[in-house]
Amino acid sequence: MNRIVMTNAQGPTSPHRLTILGSTGSIGTNTVDVIRQLGGRDRFEVMALTGASNIDLLAQQARDLGVKLAVTSQEDKYAALKDALAGTGIAVASGQSGLDEAASMDADWVMAAIAGTPGLEPTLAAARRGANIALANKECLVSAGDVFLRAVAEGGGQLIPVDSEHSAIFQCLEPHNRKAIERIVLTASGGPFRTHSREQMAGVTADVARAHPNWSMGLKVSIGSASMFNKALEMIEAKYLFDLSPDQIEVIVHPQSIIHSMVAYTDGSVIAQLGCPDMRTAIAYALTYPARGDIEVERLDFARLARLDFEAPDEVRFPALRLARTALQRGGAQGAVLNAADEAAYHAFVDGQIGFLDMADIVETVMDRMNDGRTAQTIEDVLAADAQARTYARETILNKQKAA
Ligand code: NDP
Ligand code: MG
Repeated sequence: MNRIVMTNAQGPTSPHRLTILGSTGSIGTNTVDVIRQLGGRDRFEVMALTGASNIDLLAQQARDLGVKLAVTSQEDKYAALKDALAGTGIAVASGQSGLDEAASMDADWVMAAIAGTPGLEPTLAAARRGANIALANKECLVSAGDVFLRAVAEGGGQLIPVDSEHSAIFQCLEPHNRKAIERIVLTASGGPFRTHSREQMAGVTADVARAHPNWSMGLKVSIGSASMFNKALEMIEAKYLFDLSPDQIEVIVHPQSIIHSMVAYTDGSVIAQLGCPDMRTAIAYALTYPARGDIEVERLDFARLARLDFEAPDEVRFPALRLARTALQRGGAQGAVLNAADEAAYHAFVDGQIGFLDMADIVETVMDRMNDGRTAQTIEDVLAADAQARTYARETILNKQKAA
């Protein structure tokens, strides 16, 4: 079962009608910029946009792109969005039903860029109705990989990765040589604490942890880059996208973030995709696939770059990678559990309730507690595992706070 490789061989679908789930975020605003650069309203008919708290930006994007529907996920922001779009003829909706409405609009492409688990259900709905999915929301695959891939297959749309590492692998994959893939190599910048000791990491705050050396991203991904939980999610994402076994997924720390990931073949060849660290390249690739757009991002200057460095990841300082491997080996609902426990731990860290290193402890405790063979074959299985993991994570957080 390797839909990405199959779809890679199938060829073009031009994204004329597009919906952006999460248009006000980091990926969302980059997507809007790429759309502008690729020809804007002359080339794309943007059907629906969704956001959550940033109503001013959502309304401005909706007006600029002339969309049909603007949605805020927050019910209490409905009136503000309605006011901001009064007289434009743009329909307004809110909450879960609004997100579902946006996902079911007749767009042939959907950019899935809501952060975290809230992105799962609208993205699934879009996949089920056969939309082509440009997937930034890795949580869809991490927590509901089998369910999501089945929805894509049944809907009949294409699934193109937007996460830069997975876009890189997608670009390096030779569909006709699927059996000759030995392994994939995900690159990781190592984040702001690459050279920190565990003692130094123990005391860092969210403000320090969010300062990524190379990429500008949303808060969750930035914290996840510092803890390497983002890479942990990406290992599981890769398993589903490219149908790999756990031992085919390698992670290497590459501090410059120039090589975005690689595919190693059985003849000893390794094919890499390189570029300046700018998500607009991967976004443009997804939106123009299998052609390539012409967009203004910084070009690589090899002479100025001079060198590329690599180091083996340290799984003692960054246990997230070990936990991802454990989740991959255990299978079943462990991806959903890791993802939900990580989200709960991340919120507790950002709120100052726990320390940076506690995040991995919490995820490991919850994963072990839920290592009971439960499966994730239906959306109900996934949501139940997710809810249980959050409950256990909250208990573990409280215990840590009491002990501190
Ligand atoms: P951001 O936090 O920057 O943006 C998240 C988007 O989702 C915003 O539009 C936000 O609205 C909206 N949102 C927040 N909460 C909810 C909710 N409960 N329901 C519906 N919508 C909500 O995230 P990123 O753009 O960084 O990340 C988006 C996804 O892309 C994530 O899955 C991430 O892992 C993935 N990704 C991100 C990368 C990056 O460079 N940023 C790289 C690779 C993958 P508002 O802002 O209006 O509150
Ligand atoms: Mg990534």
